[in-house]
Amino acid sequence: MDNKAPRNKINWFPSIDQDKCTGCRECFKFCSHKVFDWDEKKGRPVVANPYDCVVGCMTCSTSVCKQGALSHPTLKQLKEMMEKASQ
Ligand code: SF4
Ligand code: SF4
Repeated sequence: MDNKAPRNKINWFPSIDQDKCTGCRECFKFCSHKVFDWDEKKGRPVVANPYDCVVGCMTCSTSVCKQGALSHPTLKQLKEMMEKASQ
C-alpha cells in the first residue's frame, strides 16, 4: 500500500485471541515476514515483530487461522491511521 506514513506509526498487525487459539502453528509457519515467533512453553504464537506485518495484508487472519483467533484493524481504521501518521 502506497503511503508516506512511517511504518512504526501504523499499528497494522495481527492480534491474537488467546481463548480461541488452539496452538496449531499455522500462522507461525505461514507468515514469511516472520511477524510471529513461537512460545514453546505456552505452545502459542507471539506477535514478535508487529511492524514487519505488510500494511494491508490480512491473510493470516482471514485465511490461515481457521479458529478465528487472529484479527486486524478494519480498512477504515487503517485509512484513519495512515491519514493521521502522514500529517
Ligand atoms: S497479515 Fe500477512 S504479513 Fe501480516 S502477519 Fe499475517 S501473513 Fe504475515
Ligand atoms: S493459526 Fe490461529 S489457532 Fe493456529 S496458532 Fe495461529 S492463532 Fe492459534
